[in-house]
Amino acid sequence: MQIMDAMKSRTILYLSLGALCLTVGAGSRAEGLERGRPPSIRYTVEVDEQEFAFLRVSMDVENVTAGPLTFRLPRWAPGAYRIRDYAENVRQLHAVAQDGSPLAVQRVAEDGWQVRARGELVRVEYEVEPAYETWRGRALDSTHALIEGPDVFLYLEGHKEDPVQVSYHLPDGWRITSALDAVRDSTVYVADNYDALIDAPTEMGLFRRYRVYLGEKPVDLVFRGADGFAADSFAVMVKKICAYETGLFGETPFDKYVFFYNVFPGRRSGGGLEHRNSTVIGLAGTRLAQSVLSAAEVTAHEFFHLWNVKRIRPAVLGPFDYTREVRTRDLWFSEGVTSYYEGLTLVRSGLWTVQRLLRELAFQVERHQEAADRRSVSVEQVSWNIWERGYGHAGVSYYVKGLLLGWLLDLQMRHVTDNRVSLDDLMRFMNEHYARQNKGFRHGDIQRAVEELTGRDFSDFFRRYVAGTEDLPYREVLGYAGLDFFLSSRWLPDIGRVFFLGPRHRVVLVQRGSAAEQAGLQAGDYLLAIEGERITTLAEFKRMIEERKVGSTIKLRVRRGDEELVLPVTVAQREDAQCVIEPKADPTETEHALLVDWLTGRVRGPSSHGIPHGGNKPSGSGKL
Ligand SMILES: [Zn+2]
Repeated sequence: MQIMDAMKSRTILYLSLGALCLTVGAGSRAEGLERGRPPSIRYTVEVDEQEFAFLRVSMDVENVTAGPLTFRLPRWAPGAYRIRDYAENVRQLHAVAQDGSPLAVQRVAEDGWQVRARGELVRVEYEVEPAYETWRGRALDSTHALIEGPDVFLYLEGHKEDPVQVSYHLPDGWRITSALDAVRDSTVYVADNYDALIDAPTEMGLFRRYRVYLGEKPVDLVFRGADGFAADSFAVMVKKICAYETGLFGETPFDKYVFFYNVFPGRRSGGGLEHRNSTVIGLAGTRLAQSVLSAAEVTAHEFFHLWNVKRIRPAVLGPFDYTREVRTRDLWFSEGVTSYYEGLTLVRSGLWTVQRLLRELAFQVERHQEAADRRSVSVEQVSWNIWERGYGHAGVSYYVKGLLLGWLLDLQMRHVTDNRVSLDDLMRFMNEHYARQNKGFRHGDIQRAVEELTGRDFSDFFRRYVAGTEDLPYREVLGYAGLDFFLSSRWLPDIGRVFFLGPRHRVVLVQRGSAAEQAGLQAGDYLLAIEGERITTLAEFKRMIEERKVGSTIKLRVRRGDEELVLPVTVAQREDAQCVIEPKADPTETEHALLVDWLTGRVRGPSSHGIPHGGNKPSGSGKL
C-alpha cells in the first residue's frame, strides 16, 4: 500500500500492506453442515438508492444441517496492518430459513454472529456501510459504490476455502466492472474462495474505462471522478510501467489486470492498495491535471506488488487469520524494496531522468536521517510491531529504510560479483523459488537467496543494517557506482507532524509522542490560529512554527465540537537533513560501468544461477 501526502509534494507517509494467499488449507468443517456435500455460498449486493448510505447484503448458504453456524467479518484488511471494527458498520443482521421463517441469531464476538440452522438453507441478511479510507475517499455515494471486500462480506467460519458467487443489483444508469470473473450478464461474479473474493474489488456507477494490452493480456484502467487530464498519455505511461515490470520478471501472471483509479478534484494527496490482479488507487486531481506523471510512482509501486507481497510473500501472510494480528520482520523487503523499484522502473522505462531518480533517493536518505529513533529501532522491529506502532509514527519506516536497504543491497551485490548479479536477480530468484512454488518465504530466506546468488557472505550486512541499527554505509557503497554522497543536518523548531485537511483544517493525524500531542491536540480538532495568526496551508503552518524559538510556548487555537480551546504547545526541535547525490566527475571505468548498468537494468555476462533475465532493453534514459 502507499499513502501519499501533499507536503513537500512528495511521498512522505505510507501504510504497509500484507499479502493474500489463494491456497487455503482444508480447515475444520463447522458444525451444522452436511458431510460430503459442500455448502454453496452466494451473496447478493444491492445499493440503498434512497440515501446511498449502505449496502444491503444477503448471504445464502445451502446444504446445511441443523446446528450452529458462525459468521464473521475480518478484523483487518489484507494490506493494512491495523485492527479494524468493520462489524460496527453492520446493522439489522438477521437470518431466515428456506421457508422464510426467522432463525435465532446470537452475537458471539465483536466480529461474529452465530446462527442456529434448521437445515437446508440459511440466509443471513444485513445492511453495511462500507468503510471510509482517507486515501480513496467514500466507497459509496450517489455516483458509485466501490466494494473492496473485508468490510462488506461475511465469511462462514471453517469455510473460507469454499467457492463463492456474488450477484450485484445495479441502480439505473450504473455500470459495473470487477477484477473477478463474470459468469452471467456481467453482474454475477465468482471467486475460488473467500480470500480471492475480498482481494478483487468491484466498482459500480459512473466511470470511464480504457484498455491497454501487454502482449495478449488486457490491462484495464478504470477512472472515476475528475477528468481534466490527458487520458491517452496516462495510458501510454501505464503501459510503459507494466511492460517494464513484466519484462523484469519475464512473465505476465494474470489473465486480466485492473487499475481502479479514483481521481479527487482539488485534493493534493492520494494512495493505493494492491490486490492480487488489481489495485485501487486514489489520485490528487490537481496534480494529475498538471502532469499525468504524478501518478507514475503509485502505479509502479502497486503493480510491482503483483509480485512482491502478493506472490513473493512472507510465509505468515497467507493463508490469513482475519481474527487477529499476524506478524513478520520482513516488511522492509515487501514494502521498501517495492518502493525502491518505483524509481528504477520509471528511469528504466524512460519516464524519469537520472537526475530525478538521484534526487528522490537523496530525499529518502534525508527522511531516514530525520527519524529520531534510527539508532535504536531496527527496521525488523518496526515491521514486527506495526500493529501497535501504527502509521502515524515519525520514526524509522520500513518503506524508507527498506528502500535504502534495497538500493545498497543492489549495488553491493553488483560490486561483489563484478557486476554480474543484481537485486533484479534476487527478485526473479524469489519469484521462481517461492512465488511460483506457491509458498511463502521465511525469515532468513532473503539473506540465504542473496548469498546463493552472489556466492558471498552477507551476514554482516543483514546483522548491522537490517536486524541492527548502524548508520547505513552510503558513501562506501554508492562509491562503487561512481556516485558522490553529501549529507548534512540542521535543527529546526518543531511541534511534531500534524496533518489537516479541507477548508476548515480538520486535523487527521497528530504525531505520537510529539509536542503537539502532549499539548492535547487531537485528530478531529479544527485548527484556527497560532498566536492569533490565522492558519492557511500546511506549508504556512510549518513556517509559522519554524519562526518560533525552541523551548518557547505558543498558543494554538482549535475548535473541538462546540468549544474553542487554546492549547499551549512547547516548541521542540527536529533534525532537518540535506542530502545530495551526484555522479563523480572522474569515475573509474568499473564505477562508470556499474552506474550505467544499474540505471539500465543490465548485468555483465550470464549470471550463474540459471534463471533467465527478463530481457529488459536499456531505455536510453541512462545518460548522465
Ligand atoms: Zn505498498
